[in-house]
Amino acid sequence: MVGKKITEVRQADKAGVDYAVEVLRGGGLVAIPTETVYGLAARADCDPAIARIYAAKGRPSFNPLIVHVASVEQAMDFAEMDEAVVAFARKVWPGPVTLVLPRKADAKLAAAVTAGLGSVALRIPGHDIAREILMRLGIPLAAPSANASGFTSPTTPAHVLATLEDKVDLVLDAGPCERGVESTILKYLGEGQWQTLRAGPLAAPDGGSLASIGEQPHQIEAPGQMASHYSPGKPVRLAALSPEPGEFMIGFGEVAGDCTLSAAGDLDEAARQLYACLHLAAASAKPRVAIAPVPATGIGVAINDRLRRAAA
Ligand code: AMP
Ligand code: MG
Repeated sequence: MVGKKITEVRQADKAGVDYAVEVLRGGGLVAIPTETVYGLAARADCDPAIARIYAAKGRPSFNPLIVHVASVEQAMDFAEMDEAVVAFARKVWPGPVTLVLPRKADAKLAAAVTAGLGSVALRIPGHDIAREILMRLGIPLAAPSANASGFTSPTTPAHVLATLEDKVDLVLDAGPCERGVESTILKYLGEGQWQTLRAGPLAAPDGGSLASIGEQPHQIEAPGQMASHYSPGKPVRLAALSPEPGEFMIGFGEVAGDCTLSAAGDLDEAARQLYACLHLAAASAKPRVAIAPVPATGIGVAINDRLRRAAA
């Protein structure tokens, strides 16, 4: 079509990564693989690039972005980090955990990244390709999920194209995401205390006490923890044991469906399959969606959080 911008999709091989770094350095938008979901990445220090993220997603400007960094040292350029925070960051990074910390007054970040807040959300992603890009670039990347605001998150390049085709310069294809749900977000309260702002995969690095953090009550404090999110664009009924007429059924365990989160009842598999099932439901001719109950333990807390908001 004349005048229509075509989104390129490239394999995340050496040439693909070289090209992604070049596009990002020039202020472009690249959908990059991470271990959680595909991120819509742009230079966090560049106002026009950040404006393009908000425009491409149709994201409200009061909803701040997570800043992805290559190292703890780089994180310290942007956030006040006391010894306890540095130690904690070294324990959970790289990994699916975002830390909300006091922003340094002289942090070189586009103002829109933090939506005018005195805090900044930081993470080192646990995905080799994402980290390689960050290291080669030497500049942090703001990267919300690579989907239109409010819609189901992407865990494959096809999911990215479903809502962002021709709004993004490049999609870097490294196959499906390993974790499948967004990072756990923890806010630092001082004196070694953390508050969970969003449930997520939160891998405890050594089976330590971190595993329980994702199970604390979900507190809505930061802007953007919106009730309606992740939606397949049609009504969703939760805790369904069988479909009613006109419902696309998403199963789990013994509850069968048009597709299943995990026939074996495995919660890690269910997290990986969650958004793929919601994308299938969105694309189905059936006007409504029903979803089997999923236990709210471990990563099931994050799955139930996303399902509740997909149904809101
Ligand atoms: P996402 O929609 O996955 O990009 O989630 C990003 C979320 O991180 C936002 O909706 C906020 O709730 C949270 N967040 C990002 N930056 C900040 C910040 N500076 N302060 C508090 N929360 C933040
Ligand atoms: Mg999102």
